[in-house]
Amino acid sequence: LIRTAERLREAVRAARGQGKSIGLVPTMGALHAGHLSLVDASHRQCDFTVVTIFVNLPQFAPGEDFSTYPRTLEADLDALRGRGADVVFVPDEQEIYRPGHATFVQMHGVAEPLEGRCRPGHFRGVATIVLKLLNLATPDVAFFGQKDYQQSLVVRRLVADLDLPIEIHLCPTVREPDGLALSSRNAQLDAQQRQQALVLSRSLRRAVELAESGQHSTKAIRAEMLALLAEVPEVRLDYLAMVDAETLDEAAQVDGPTLVAITAFVGPVRLIDNCLINNIM
Ligand code: AMP
Repeated sequence: LIRTAERLREAVRAARGQGKSIGLVPTMGALHAGHLSLVDASHRQCDFTVVTIFVNLPQFAPGEDFSTYPRTLEADLDALRGRGADVVFVPDEQEIYRPGHATFVQMHGVAEPLEGRCRPGHFRGVATIVLKLLNLATPDVAFFGQKDYQQSLVVRRLVADLDLPIEIHLCPTVREPDGLALSSRNAQLDAQQRQQALVLSRSLRRAVELAESGQHSTKAIRAEMLALLAEVPEVRLDYLAMVDAETLDEAAQVDGPTLVAITAFVGPVRLIDNCLINNIM
């Protein structure tokens, strides 16, 4: 367990000195099997794995759940034990944003639609903390989950635009057996809301089925998804988008890799899920 940037740099330098490759898994904690799948992927691919746990205030828009975001450090450390994490970096706020901090990364393009539109400042916060963690841990590979697909595009863009010699590895979304995508925020759902939340993954599965059975019109797929979602009125849709999986431009037809992204409020909790429909011709 490392608390300071300086000690993190030392640990990474020592590992590098032994010729080890470095993997980085950035998280906000409240770890679940989705996070652990990233740790496993890093452990498989790299010799030395750095997991970071930091609830990054700048990526929460005003009025969002920063203060109620689950913080479960002891359980997180237990979950990571024996899992192949060599270092867990848990800085406090002042260690990351030192007095006078004034630099933020502002990204256009893929950071603007979807989450960028609904959560003003979100990707400015994400890009800034990810760049800082990449600079501190200097990984060869950084691991992200498909659950936050747009975030992974933002990070790829960041790395390409700022010439960082780092590979970005995207890991599949880990789900509960009934389809619910694992999320630290699921803990805030009561039993009934959790049941209601299943309509998100159900509607995504329907989109995949339709596309696989030859339906290429995103308008038609959307309409069927909306009909399913309407069956659970407690789930308040934020957006449902079908977009080009690389540019995030609106797609009229599924004629190349397409992202179906859905976001909804279930009770007080904002849930996000997506699937990729790949090259179905
Ligand atoms: P977070 O702690 O929510 O910031 O997430 C940290 C990393 O874990 C991000 O790269 C997420 O995309 C990834 N992640 C979160 N939930 C899942 C999941 N259910 N399956 C796979 N990766 C996930």
